[in-house]
Amino acid sequence: MLRTIFEIVLGVILSISLTLAVVKTVQVKNVEEELATVKKKVAAANKKIAEFEKAAEGQHAPQPGHGPGATPHWAYDGDLNPAKWGDVFPECGTGKQQSPVDIRGPFEKATHEIKPDFKPGTLKILNNGHTLQVNIGAGSKTMINGESFDLLQFHFHRPSEEHIEGKPSAMVAHFVHKSAAGKLAVIGVLFSEGAENEVVKVIWANAPKQEGPEKVIPEMTINAAAMLPKRLNYYSYEGSLTTPPCTEGVTFYILKTPMAISRQQVEAFPFKTNARPVQPLNGRRISVNG
Ligand SMILES: [Zn+2]
Repeated sequence: MLRTIFEIVLGVILSISLTLAVVKTVQVKNVEEELATVKKKVAAANKKIAEFEKAAEGQHAPQPGHGPGATPHWAYDGDLNPAKWGDVFPECGTGKQQSPVDIRGPFEKATHEIKPDFKPGTLKILNNGHTLQVNIGAGSKTMINGESFDLLQFHFHRPSEEHIEGKPSAMVAHFVHKSAAGKLAVIGVLFSEGAENEVVKVIWANAPKQEGPEKVIPEMTINAAAMLPKRLNYYSYEGSLTTPPCTEGVTFYILKTPMAISRQQVEAFPFKTNARPVQPLNGRRISVNG
């Protein structure tokens, strides 16, 4: 009798254990299945992140056309066109001293000259996905109203961002300067269609076809001074970077004398249009010298 009870109890214990073991196995199986599902989801998410990053890289400027630092993506057409820049970069939308502008009178009289002193240097060039940019080594500068501004880089827009009495030029080169105090000044050189431009020829020939980091070409020397006209008379106004984040506090000096560029050279520029539309003056006065 005692033995029978013992056997029954043992049997019950065994069957409970067995049931527990089965439940445990089922649970483990469920957890494993869940883990596999989660792992699949993580893999899918990682793939999406990688795809997003790749897409974003295509839009990013390693260095934006006009300023330091990385920027989220923006473009000159499509969903990320200039009218949308303000959604991501507030100053592009709300700024009251934005560039570029349509240059037209009445003008104020400018009181100072600009004195560029550009030195030849090794060609350092990049395609940042928005423009071709030539980076300038130390030593090239411009004296503006008694203050020295270092030339950092110059780059191109097609057509020119600045309009003169409503009309753009074929292209413009922006020479971006910074003072020791951090003030920015841009000298704009307009290009009209005409003879081939020798400096542009060198730049186009060595420019990377695809967006990417700076390319240094030790055997090539670039002379930025040869990009400037002899007469340095200008239109000047207070504006902003013409690319996101559209930061204000940039003084523009748009030279009145255009340089020549051939139609073939304009057409060979790898960006069909990379010009921000003109922005309202909002009461700003444009000054002129000469
Ligand atoms: Zn520019």
